[in-house]
Amino acid sequence: MTELRDLTHITCVPEQRSRRDKALQQQVRSFLPELDQLERLLAEAPPQFSANVIGHSCVAEHRLPLYQVKVGNAAPESPVLLLVGGVHGLERIGSRVVMEWLRTLSKRLQWDQHLSALLDRVQLVAIPLLNPGGMLLNQRGNPAGVDLMRNAPIAAQDPSTFMLGGQRLSPYLPWYMGKPGQPMEPENIALQAVIDELLTNRPFSLSLDCHSGFGWQDQLWFPYAYRRRPMRKLDSVFALKLLWEQAYPHHNYVIEPQSRHYLTHGDLWDYFYKRHNRRGAGNYIPLTLEMGSWRWIRKRPRQLLKLEGLFNPLVPHRLQRVLRSHLTLFNFLLEATAQHENWLPHGSHAQTLRQAAIRHWYPYETEF
Ligand SMILES: [Zn+2]
Repeated sequence: MTELRDLTHITCVPEQRSRRDKALQQQVRSFLPELDQLERLLAEAPPQFSANVIGHSCVAEHRLPLYQVKVGNAAPESPVLLLVGGVHGLERIGSRVVMEWLRTLSKRLQWDQHLSALLDRVQLVAIPLLNPGGMLLNQRGNPAGVDLMRNAPIAAQDPSTFMLGGQRLSPYLPWYMGKPGQPMEPENIALQAVIDELLTNRPFSLSLDCHSGFGWQDQLWFPYAYRRRPMRKLDSVFALKLLWEQAYPHHNYVIEPQSRHYLTHGDLWDYFYKRHNRRGAGNYIPLTLEMGSWRWIRKRPRQLLKLEGLFNPLVPHRLQRVLRSHLTLFNFLLEATAQHENWLPHGSHAQTLRQAAIRHWYPYETEF
């Protein structure tokens, strides 16, 4: 890993074809097993799956592909569920849970007509590894040291948490936002292009970005992170929460606005959500899954000796538990997205739900 860090000043060269380069590429990939797992999964997937490369992450002379996986109905009138993982290079478990579900779907599609029928009504798009360069380097930010979740052009309206809320001091410190006035990093530009192309003017779209590293419990966060006041479509999020809790009353997720925990500059999903609404591009709910990694550390404090131990379950049986524990949620989100007409609130029902949501999540706020 150290040798790779030392090479990061070298420009990414597009074509590397010599035998030595291929060997080096293999060596590099041994630090990034998630990429091989994803490519193997795609190679074995049924014909309903398609994949393409939406960009690259460069580490020294190595170009690492950003894969987009699609399955389901691609018609413009279909709703879309977008799953993202690996935004933070240290949070490998986020990529693993997304790939685990893709693997489940690819195997089930070979015999499950119910699933095929469901996917006729919805499109699933997944970007399991948004920051392969950061993952290869075993660091939170991308190869330039930028924290992709602090890199969007949106500033916190209230005082943000020192450092954690985003900083411009140094790419060698965590939560680096990038240089002021620069465009977003290539990984985020690629993600924005996917959102613009696939989520625009759909009847409904929902995204889930999978992270780990904060809290004792698994949490589902929704905007905003840049301000404490509620988001525009709060009624839709509350309706989804009720739907989930009525169907799965013993679930373990805490569903809250991110601003309940901390405010940040540059939050990617705040930015995409506001941009989507500004363009009048349809009903969209962005969610972030924050897997509570502190309990993994409490059960095995030795994990603190390794940087990745702060963010990932390292004991095999715990890893297996995490990989299987989110499948119900992912299946639910796919069903809920496909059948959004049956639960999305409208008119006075939406207003009632919004008021209930404000009492529930913003008890000290007056209506805005
Ligand atoms: Zn994260």
